[in-house]
Amino acid sequence: MEVDMSAQNILHMNSGVGDKSYAHNSFFQQRKAIIQANPILEESITRLYHNNIVPKCLKVADLGCSSGPNALQVVSNIINIVDTTSSNLNLSSPNFQFYLNDLFENDFNTIFKSLPQYHKTLLEEKKELKIGSCFINATPGTFYNRLFPTSSIHFFHSSYCLHWLSQVPEKLIEGEEALRWDNIYLTRTSPVSMHRAYLEQFQKDFKQFLKSRSEELVTGGGMLLAFIGRQDTSEIRTAWELIDMSLKDLLLEKLIEKETLECFNMPNYDPSMEEVKQVIEEEGSFILQKLETVHQDWDPNTNGGGNDKNKVDENMRGEIVAKYIRAITEPLLKAHFGELRMDELFLRLENKAVQLIKETKIFKFPILVISLIKNA
Ligand code: SAH
Repeated sequence: MEVDMSAQNILHMNSGVGDKSYAHNSFFQQRKAIIQANPILEESITRLYHNNIVPKCLKVADLGCSSGPNALQVVSNIINIVDTTSSNLNLSSPNFQFYLNDLFENDFNTIFKSLPQYHKTLLEEKKELKIGSCFINATPGTFYNRLFPTSSIHFFHSSYCLHWLSQVPEKLIEGEEALRWDNIYLTRTSPVSMHRAYLEQFQKDFKQFLKSRSEELVTGGGMLLAFIGRQDTSEIRTAWELIDMSLKDLLLEKLIEKETLECFNMPNYDPSMEEVKQVIEEEGSFILQKLETVHQDWDPNTNGGGNDKNKVDENMRGEIVAKYIRAITEPLLKAHFGELRMDELFLRLENKAVQLIKETKIFKFPILVISLIKNA
């Protein structure tokens, strides 16, 4: 069967604003990773002021913005932080130019359509804040290549993206010789050769990412990255495990072919803190200001997403988790297993999520939050 090595053509979140869209199901990231990373974002932006690099027009890019409220939430956060910092320093707020980046298939149109309302809200806020004009652009393309002219950006932001690789490691896809394993993703019990293949792909991609950004940043420019990491001490039940188990059910029920399942691997790697640090050091363009781990739960009840624990029962919690996983992975899975199987797959996944919530009550995973400055 023909396998597309590159994740770039099929990896994007579910489009639109409907029930299955990322826009509708991305509440957790917004509440958790973005909010938890806010103090570090504040520090990084304040540092731009201390390094005297805030110009008349501050150019900021959000890499892997997806579509939906989170993309513009980042814009608002940054505007607010800059406004507070400049008023504290008795300076006028700069103009802003934001570049929203994601892969070509991303639903940029949903963002564009929400811009008139967003600009209106900004204008109303502007009466209270002293913010300058705000221009919003889109920059489609992969962040594993160059996206902007040399020395043109002051600050990069990226949340929930860098655990996505540019492709499944080649050693897993090359014909007869390909490495094969029972799971669609890397687990603690996968063979060492598989670990190595995934780690090498991550190192290659992340190095390329850092190199491209360092060329695009002005000297002293900053970058805040938050993405899913790995902690070797904790046994994590990931979304991938739920997908894996559900696909195996489909196989047992003869709804998908063995070969189709065997040649599917997630283009994903959750690095450890040490692995991330090592790439940053080896690549050499950035000074690491901060590297923290925050913990996130899939389950809305344990993370403040639901207001009242008793209101959201286990079935609803399972449904929320399943919808969220679907919003993130459906385009990728659909491209391989076909649209027809998607409802059946996610129905099974939802049942498994409910069961898991009943058994263990937790779905925690670590997010690495990293603040970097471009070397002089
Ligand atoms: N930043 C948003 C969205 C995260 S979802 C938030 O925090 O909610 C991850 C996004 O990364 C997806 O929209 C996916 O299409 C994008 N992405 C993955 N690999 C990418 C790449 N190589 N280049 C650009 N965007 C990428």
